[in-house]
Amino acid sequence: MNLIILFPDDFLDPQRVRLTGRRLAHVRDTHRAVLGDSLNVGLLAGLMGTGLITRLDEEALEMDVALDQPPPPKLPLTLVLALPRPKVLNRVLASAASLGVAHIHLINAWKVEKSYWKSPRMAEENLHHQRLLGLEQAKDTVLPELHIHRLFRPFVEDVLPTIVEGTQALVGHPGAPEPCPRHIHQPITLAVGPEGGWIEAELASLIRAGFCPVDLGPRILRTETAVAALVGRLF
Ligand code: SAM
Repeated sequence: MNLIILFPDDFLDPQRVRLTGRRLAHVRDTHRAVLGDSLNVGLLAGLMGTGLITRLDEEALEMDVALDQPPPPKLPLTLVLALPRPKVLNRVLASAASLGVAHIHLINAWKVEKSYWKSPRMAEENLHHQRLLGLEQAKDTVLPELHIHRLFRPFVEDVLPTIVEGTQALVGHPGAPEPCPRHIHQPITLAVGPEGGWIEAELASLIRAGFCPVDLGPRILRTETAVAALVGRLF
């Protein structure tokens, strides 16, 4: 937790916060902070700054906060991600948030197991929490926007054209003839497939929607590794 994210309910007055629970435990047990220490803090969707510890005990952490720094800019990147298995979903959401992805669209695909959609990890609270973990890691306060589309074809036909407009659209596909380009200086829509990969019909739909299949080399990467590698290469 490189940044402690604050919520409006934490504020006792405009300059003072009181935290309990996970953030208190983390500051005590991991940071091993003491009274008078200064921590990096940021208001969710707002400014970042410092928090001076004025109380730290088993019950609560209190800080005087000064928030005057904007969060880092997001990457001009929309990630279209075939729903991965629940454990991996958690990791990808946190990792995408920490990388600065602006928008995430979780979509269905032929090789997405139906049970993944029913996982408790799809609960709104978890989807929020995982992205929050990414912000805490990377020192950012703005959650990537998350959209969920349970049907592939309506998404591709009705929603994707608007997303793709004005962006370079790339779909990760091992073995594609085009290597993934490097350091693109324009907005990107990036599609990453399910564990079993895209089927031909899905790839054809994405190509019709303007996507270019791109390859990262002979190694087939896990979804979370592929996302990080593609983003690292593109920006
Ligand atoms: N067996 C699947 C296949 O051959 O497509 C592997 C899927 S991989 C676990 C999940 C997704 O990560 C892929 O659909 C692709 O979008 C991306 N990916 C993984 N390795 C890649 C590579 N070497 N080049 C491009 N994309 C890759």
